[in-house]
Amino acid sequence: MSPDETAARCEMAKLGASLFDRGFSVGTAGNISVRLSDGILMSPTNARLCDLDPDRISKLDMEGKHVSGDRPTKEVFLHQAFYDTRPDAGAVVHLHSTWATALSCLEEIDPNDCIPPLTPYVVMRVGSVKLVPYVRPGDPKSGQLIRELHGRFAAVLLANHGPVVSGKSLFSAVCAAEELEETAKLVMALEGRKVRYLANHEVADLIRTFGTI
Ligand code: ZN
Repeated sequence: MSPDETAARCEMAKLGASLFDRGFSVGTAGNISVRLSDGILMSPTNARLCDLDPDRISKLDMEGKHVSGDRPTKEVFLHQAFYDTRPDAGAVVHLHSTWATALSCLEEIDPNDCIPPLTPYVVMRVGSVKLVPYVRPGDPKSGQLIRELHGRFAAVLLANHGPVVSGKSLFSAVCAAEELEETAKLVMALEGRKVRYLANHEVADLIRTFGTI
């Protein structure tokens, strides 16, 4: 096993436990993955993110075939769709975190931009978020729906389910998932208030200065 793979396995266990310990994932909900040069590491099915054993993490080849470790999460299609459509994606984090999931259950959110530009940080770390229509967890159609976005979004919200966030590294994907969750909480906290969103020129300035996700 390469030193990079060993480090990635340890980081998945460490950051998975961190997400779990802070309540971003409960029970066996949520799954994380990291792209390697020769495949994809994925959290196993029915595993709690606080219990990931680096040696038992699932490994898939580039075509998505299970090659070693425990059986991968049944939401494997979500991860593969991001890797296939976003060449820069090095990691994917899927959570059922409370506030983002609450937002995913609302009828009136804008499906093309479901996290409004409330703060610079959500613009810089998450970008626009697309709502993906509901399908049963584990249905390969969820991957197809993400593929149809052609990699335009670093993060999506699965309707009545939760967020999926990609990043260049596992650390950046985890930070973006946390930012998305906190922003969803702000959206709910501000419901019914007159809100000043960042103006288009302010969003453009952030993208010009810090780049896109
Ligand atoms: Zn899920």
